[in-house]
Amino acid sequence: MTETILSSSEAFAGFAGMVTVDPGDIARASTDFGHIVSASPLGVLRPRSAWEIAEAARFAGPRGVPVAARGGGYALYGQGQAGGGLVVDMAALDEVWVEEGADGARAVVGAGASWADVVRATLAEGLTPPVLTGHLGASVGGVLSEGGIGGTSHRYGSVADTVLELDVVTGAGEELTCSPDRNRDLFHAVLAGLGRCALIVRATLRLVPAPARVRRYRLYYQDQDRYFADQRRLVLDGRFDQLDGRVRPVVGDGWHRMAEAVVHLSAEEITGNRTPEGRALDERLLGDLGHDRDTQEIEDFTYQEYVHRADREERLLRATGEWRHPHPWLSLLLPEATAPALVDAILTDRAQCGLRTCGVVGIQPLRAASLGLPLLRKPSGELLYLLSLMRTAPDPSVAPAAARQLVAANRAVYERAVALGAVVLPGGALPMSPQDWRAHYGPAWPGIVRAKETHDPHRVLTPGQGL
Ligand SMILES: Cc1cc2nc3c(=O)[nH]c(=O)nc-3n(C[C@H](O)[C@H](O)[C@H](O)COP(=O)(O)OP(=O)(O)OC[C@H]3O[C@@H](n4cnc5c(N)ncnc54)[C@H](O)[C@@H]3O)c2cc1C
Repeated sequence: MTETILSSSEAFAGFAGMVTVDPGDIARASTDFGHIVSASPLGVLRPRSAWEIAEAARFAGPRGVPVAARGGGYALYGQGQAGGGLVVDMAALDEVWVEEGADGARAVVGAGASWADVVRATLAEGLTPPVLTGHLGASVGGVLSEGGIGGTSHRYGSVADTVLELDVVTGAGEELTCSPDRNRDLFHAVLAGLGRCALIVRATLRLVPAPARVRRYRLYYQDQDRYFADQRRLVLDGRFDQLDGRVRPVVGDGWHRMAEAVVHLSAEEITGNRTPEGRALDERLLGDLGHDRDTQEIEDFTYQEYVHRADREERLLRATGEWRHPHPWLSLLLPEATAPALVDAILTDRAQCGLRTCGVVGIQPLRAASLGLPLLRKPSGELLYLLSLMRTAPDPSVAPAAARQLVAANRAVYERAVALGAVVLPGGALPMSPQDWRAHYGPAWPGIVRAKETHDPHRVLTPGQGL
């Protein structure tokens, strides 16, 4: 790979940072996990310090050169791309250390570290971030800029809700530290802020003790009313540490709802599920629920195995090649009142029938009060459901139009859902107009415009979010 001094490239004459213009690096920065949108940058910066990013921002801003950070590259619709500009590959900013703070243990992590890096370092100390998303390959900066919902979010909120402090570089090229007590407005403009105002360089994360093991219950429901009644109960009484779920097609016709409920166990609580203590635990947790007893699945894991649960599927999809197919995914937060009807309407819509064969449908209950960030918009009501339509399109060489058709299907779902009070989780494969964004942010919109004018006055940061 040839590293080129940027000043040798005409486009960036005068900027002294180290940038690669190697065609392989440019090609990599022109794509993402979504494999739907592609925009080529002119160069890729590989910073080793915040100062280099600040220098790049100060260079790019006045020249109108778009700049976007790239972490794990798991964006779905070009959100981390910067056509004709500079992609800042955060990979080298991957330090992680654990320290004791005034309010307990915390991790200080470079924005380019993956969540797998973070977990490795914290588990070595018997600690864990309170919330982890289902896939640990994404970077710290990438997840914090979108929010990040995980199995414990009904309790702790989004991943971004667990951040204590951030070091950032703004679009104006300023290096700033922000927290709830220091540059508070910037802190709230950056968390779940879609990279609009600043690039995250380092984050300080709250940590909690890691459980030794977990017990996972998979509970199946044919009856939608019972499913939703149980989810309400489980979110409100908090008997499980993690809640997630899937809606799965039944052979022939119809769908089953599967609730995945996980309880964390300390070393003293470890008990096999065939022992009397294990059975007593199961009875205490499941006794009053309305699922189908005959099909329930109970399995124990170490905590480490559980947080890495997606790795096996990833290896499989990489082996089959599907990992590189287009992924027109969409996530929506549904209000409790309309969630049952909406889920039903989406799953029985003929235009969405591809979800039966080439998609995974996730459904996860959440407590609205735990999601505290101003920029992570949510529907009204006490309870919410995160509905994730994780579609995989066929290989584009076989079906070139398929991904676009599925993006159009996302758009149809979005319009139907928003009309019934749902809120989209940004980051999906969904084209949005300026009016959509304004409606999405509602009363937060004027603050967003002000923060953009202050911190990214040349409007060069993160054009791929389409905002
Ligand atoms: C298999 C899979 C499973 C997933 N599971 C979940 C899940 O359980 N819950 C959930 O909430 N999400 C989930 N996601 C979504 C994923 O967490 C987000 O797309 C996340 O933004 C990806 O992070 P990344 O580092 O790969 O980001 P990239 O693709 O590199 O970037 C994503 C966005 O973040 C911006 N960005 C990256 N780094 C920084 C930075 N340092 N500062 C500012 N902005 C930055 C980019 O410019 C871009 O706009 C999943 C995605 C995949 C592919």
